[in-house]
Amino acid sequence: MTENNTENSTQTTQHHQTDQKTALVTGANKGIGYEIAAGLARLGFRVGLGARDTGRREEAVAKLRAEGLDVFGVPLDVTDDASVAAAAAQLEAQGGLDVLVNNAGVTGGVPQEPTRVSPELVLAVVDTNVVGVIRVTNAMLPMLRRATSPRIVNVSSTVGSLTLQTAQADAVGPISAAYSPSKSFLNAVTIQYAKELADTGILINAGCPGYVATDLNGFQGHRTPEQGAAIFLQLATLPDGGPTGTFRDDEGIQPW
Ligand code: NAP
Repeated sequence: MTENNTENSTQTTQHHQTDQKTALVTGANKGIGYEIAAGLARLGFRVGLGARDTGRREEAVAKLRAEGLDVFGVPLDVTDDASVAAAAAQLEAQGGLDVLVNNAGVTGGVPQEPTRVSPELVLAVVDTNVVGVIRVTNAMLPMLRRATSPRIVNVSSTVGSLTLQTAQADAVGPISAAYSPSKSFLNAVTIQYAKELADTGILINAGCPGYVATDLNGFQGHRTPEQGAAIFLQLATLPDGGPTGTFRDDEGIQPW
């Protein structure tokens, strides 16, 4: 509680004085999430950096504030109901939410052959990458329903595309029993949300950042986190009446 107050006190006042939109990015302390948060703040959003580790969260907030950006920390573990409820309460107290970016994700490590994978590892990856998205989205939904141009953006991957995994000789992604299927599951869930929310004005889309150098892949990716963030900035700022229930990357629409 003390931590929340310290992180947010000055910003709360500012929010009530402007029409500024608020965004929440989960897993925003590093990698692609950090750059999505930075990008949205540079576009004029007031951005909550959702992150579970206090030190890393405060460091990220301080770095972006040093750039003059309007950001604040949101303690958030997407696998924890109480943490997600507290995050929603914090945002509600600070005036609501316009844009939710579900970015937090884990791979579960390698190797991950389906014949050897532990059921516990699969459950852990799905809990973060899929159930975490549902948990956070549903907690934030009452605020999003009240927003004028609400957007939900799910950070997925083309390694979760069943079409791309099977249609090509050089199919995308490694053999993966947890990570790739978790992104297929996330894509499927995105479609279901889009169907249910079709008439609400809430646009929900999934995106793929490409292969980005982050902790997730031991910095093997060939794109920068800033390049990876670009598609999500686009999806977060779609015009009213724009697409919903789609899966995209920088090249355009991708098959599910
Ligand atoms: P990253 O640098 O490892 O960042 C992952 C972020 O998620 C970290 O901030 C991490 O926080 C957070 N996180 C993990 N579990 C969490 C939880 N339970 N609650 C809250 N936060 C949690 O990796 P990244 O590459 O930027 O990944 C971001 C997203 O992009 C993921 O969804 C990933 O699947 C997706 N993606 C990445 C690539 C790529 O090439 N890198 C490609 C396609 C899709 P901690 O610091 O506390 O661990």
